[in-house]
Amino acid sequence: MFDVVTMSDEDSRVVAGVDLGGTNLRVAVADQSGSTAGFLTCPTEAFAGPDVIIDRIVSMIRQSLVRANVEATELVAVGVGAPGPLDSVSGVIHNEPTNLPGWNGIRLADRLSEVLGVPVFLEKDANVAALAECVYGRNCGVANMLYITVSTGVGAGLILNGELWQGVHGTAGEFGHMTVDFEGPLCDCGNRGCIQEVASGPNIAAWVLSKISAGAPSIVTEISVDGPVSGRDVVRAAVDGDELAIAGLDRAGRAVGFGIVSLAHMVNLELVVVGGGIANAGALLLDPIIQTVRGHVLGSTASSLRVVPWSIGEEVGVLGAVASAYSRMGSGREFSV
Ligand SMILES: [Zn+2]
Repeated sequence: MFDVVTMSDEDSRVVAGVDLGGTNLRVAVADQSGSTAGFLTCPTEAFAGPDVIIDRIVSMIRQSLVRANVEATELVAVGVGAPGPLDSVSGVIHNEPTNLPGWNGIRLADRLSEVLGVPVFLEKDANVAALAECVYGRNCGVANMLYITVSTGVGAGLILNGELWQGVHGTAGEFGHMTVDFEGPLCDCGNRGCIQEVASGPNIAAWVLSKISAGAPSIVTEISVDGPVSGRDVVRAAVDGDELAIAGLDRAGRAVGFGIVSLAHMVNLELVVVGGGIANAGALLLDPIIQTVRGHVLGSTASSLRVVPWSIGEEVGVLGAVASAYSRMGSGREFSV
């Protein structure tokens, strides 16, 4: 169960949520009910490196407090969602997330805490998104659920018996590196046929481009005006009815679907929530996922399983960071999960 601080005595207290993504940086403050204020977003400009970006996070938190009309003294904690791998206990980012160069070994939680004077809690982005949907989303209260993000990468947060499942070393949730084709293409991780090789935004785009090179008609290359074709370009083309783009999303959806099938058989899930930038394709991604799950999950495991789109949308990272901080501050009442 998720323990959170009781704020009934001090209703003005807030937590800042930070969503540190490779593309965008989002900040807001929120009270215990998940009501956000002072929402700010800007490009991460990952090339600027950790020192500049950490200063920017501090500045955005202070700006967010001002916009929300909240005194700085009412800030009691900060939650940060960031790409893994990271150590959520020590608050250190490990290795080097591919979309955040130069962050290996950065003591992000300590550095923010030293400047802001409050506890800072670091958690993987997919894990905080799972918490957001579990605590504040339309399906709050579900104790056994999987949140999958289909975006630049493919990851997941797993809630089991009302608790975030971290695993022995906190590396749980690498849904994107589950194998769906052991003779498939080589993934960056060194394995073959990972879900991410089919379903991540860049890999969906690469598949569509390979078909265009082989002569297939598509408007995808016309839609892309600012640099290389991206997963979001494919989504836009698919929504406009482009058959090749739709086929790319269908293929991605089936790969994600077979990942869910395997996991559902293993842990008997109640709910799967699908979010991330590619999920903005709506039914074009979700329907092949649901069809695959319905067609392949066995018996009673299938009868209790629902697959739904995210209910929070682009604020999921910020709200999840808030939920993570409240949860880890760990006193007072529990969320009814
Ligand atoms: Zn992989």
